[in-house]
Amino acid sequence: MSLLVVGSVAFDALETPYGKVDRTLGGAATYFSIAASCFTHVNLVGVVGDDFTAKDRAVFRGRRIDISGLERATGKTFFWSGRYGQDPNERVTLVTDLNVFATFRPKLPEAFRASRHVFLANIDPTLQRSVLEQIKTPPRMVALDTMNYWIERAPAELREILKRTHVLMINDAETRMLSSEHNLLRAARRIFAMGPRILIIKRGEHGALMVDNRGAFAVPAFPLEEVHDPTGAGDSFAGGFMGYLASSRGMSDAVLRRAMVYGSVMGSFAVERFGLDRLRKVTRREIDARARHFAKLTQFRL
Ligand code: AMP
Repeated sequence: MSLLVVGSVAFDALETPYGKVDRTLGGAATYFSIAASCFTHVNLVGVVGDDFTAKDRAVFRGRRIDISGLERATGKTFFWSGRYGQDPNERVTLVTDLNVFATFRPKLPEAFRASRHVFLANIDPTLQRSVLEQIKTPPRMVALDTMNYWIERAPAELREILKRTHVLMINDAETRMLSSEHNLLRAARRIFAMGPRILIIKRGEHGALMVDNRGAFAVPAFPLEEVHDPTGAGDSFAGGFMGYLASSRGMSDAVLRRAMVYGSVMGSFAVERFGLDRLRKVTRREIDARARHFAKLTQFRL
């Protein structure tokens, strides 16, 4: 089934206790599509500048990713730079240069307009809305990510797009900020009143929590001795979650729970090496083996 993603394709400069890179391919839509393409076909919508070379583009080659919606504009590709300390949950953004992203107006190729599953990665809510408006039949599932910047600066636009969102995927600080409520379960109830039916709270090394009207389900983060680079964990989680859902029949509680596990599996591969180094090499066999490991990790008897 078709899965559409719109979001950033970027060059990142990263610094972690394990090393430093000055320019590596990143961006929310990149991490998402590479992770999701391990499960299903992905249609990518985004923009890059004229500094984005054929070598950069090769990251998408040989995968189930259609990049006919990846526009090339005059100027530089979106650039983001971040630094992490010993705590992988704490990140400092050093630079955000929107570059060609500043004037980006997403245009969906005709073939993308029938997408049944949609992931609106963290971008201006006005752009997220314009993407949904270009889709012909209402999608089966719309999932959305956002951040504190948009919660503070564009609350009205965000509220509008939330009315059309089924799954909201944000972190705990964003959950509290959006709902003005500290307790995450009460926060979820407030968020459901805004539109979403499912809230997925990404909690970095503490895993992820899914809340819907049936209750809550938690997955841990896969225990790793070394987290080399936490960048892209959230988007890879979203890619695993949405990719698995789009490749499954139905949306039962069991399917949603397995999607959470596959999300966490993809997040864990993303952080094992810098940038996309590990994620782009991971095989379906390794993914399934790690999912089985999750089952063991969380199994107990009463
Ligand atoms: P994550 O670690 O999953 O939150 O995503 C990190 C990726 O998001 C990086 O590769 C960045 O290029 C990208 N990114 C960072 N800030 C922004 C932003 N303001 N808008 C869009 N993408 C961003």
